[in-house]
Amino acid sequence: MKITRVEATPLYIELKIDILDINKTNGLSVVLVEVETDEGHLGHGITAIMDEDVVASAVNDLAGPTIIGENPMANERIWEKLYWQLTPRGQTGYGGHAIAAIDVALWDIKGKVLGEPVWRLLGGARPTVPLYATFGFGFFDRDQIGEAAKLWRENGFDRLKMTVGMNALKRRDDERRPLLEAIREDRIRVRNVREAAGEEAELFVDANCSLDQYHAIMLANWIEEYDIAFFEEPITHNNVRQMAEMRTRTKVPVAAGQTETLAYRFRDFITAGAVDVLQPNVVIGGGYTQIQKVAGMAHAFNMPIDNGGAFPFHNMHLHAGVMNGGMVEYHHVSVECCKAFFKGLPEPKDGWLDLPETPGLGFEPDMDAVRELAKAPKSMGQGKG
Ligand SMILES: [Mg+2]
Repeated sequence: MKITRVEATPLYIELKIDILDINKTNGLSVVLVEVETDEGHLGHGITAIMDEDVVASAVNDLAGPTIIGENPMANERIWEKLYWQLTPRGQTGYGGHAIAAIDVALWDIKGKVLGEPVWRLLGGARPTVPLYATFGFGFFDRDQIGEAAKLWRENGFDRLKMTVGMNALKRRDDERRPLLEAIREDRIRVRNVREAAGEEAELFVDANCSLDQYHAIMLANWIEEYDIAFFEEPITHNNVRQMAEMRTRTKVPVAAGQTETLAYRFRDFITAGAVDVLQPNVVIGGGYTQIQKVAGMAHAFNMPIDNGGAFPFHNMHLHAGVMNGGMVEYHHVSVECCKAFFKGLPEPKDGWLDLPETPGLGFEPDMDAVRELAKAPKSMGQGKG
């Protein structure tokens, strides 16, 4: 069997937010990769949280032509080839995103050829995965975010994540003292969410790398009284030394890893004691081929893994597959984004997601919807997740 075609489509998916009468739009950048074989198999992978045009170009102009003619079942061989082409000196970043999208498509093909869902090829540890809901976005004001927490509780989620930090470092050139003001507002927002969600709910916060160490520690200590189960990406560029030090200065557990594209970064997180929870993401961190190795490292070091960086329908296969799988992130904006161009996605029940028995990923892109979405304006480097 041979790969005959590799095609990436850059997408910027703009979504209308229809919660609590909020009339806002939010968008996500995604690259969809389609891989075809000479035996007629089609596999689909995605990547996200990057500029969609750059990564699509890396796939269409570089990586795709390199792997034409390769056997799609040889995912280790192909991964190695792409590593030396796109990230030969261990560079993390966009090259890793391109590898991830291709690798996910290869596993989709592998499942279809073997007649098994991807989660079973990864080990088949359990047929259902626990979810946490990412609901608490910056587009809610401090009162709305409490109302939203109640709404998600009513929808069966007792594990809830909200954003903090509000892009404070990114905004500091245009605004005075945005970090202190951002975390003061966060303290109120977290309190409102805890009061609305009730004491049984598990709460998580995520700063998306938008704070410095000083403000991240200050915020962690302020919100410790609200029983925070982890503080995700608290510090800019996931600084290993500063996160390790942060862990000695707060009781709130630290989590990171969703935007890391090479395995050695996870090794550094582990050996430096930088995090309590590792958060590899299959659509960012090199696909299933690399992330199952990260899961293996986590297992050896007895560290939990949970999904950060969203895209639950791809990450559920990892957490159901490996024995030390953890929670999957049911991120509202990312779920709605996937619903815009995938058919056959599973629906959560009581905070859990059942894995499909269908070979491969178990869902397919709606290529008519993809072609329509591809005509929309791109993010011009503003795509986010
Ligand atoms: Mg995150």
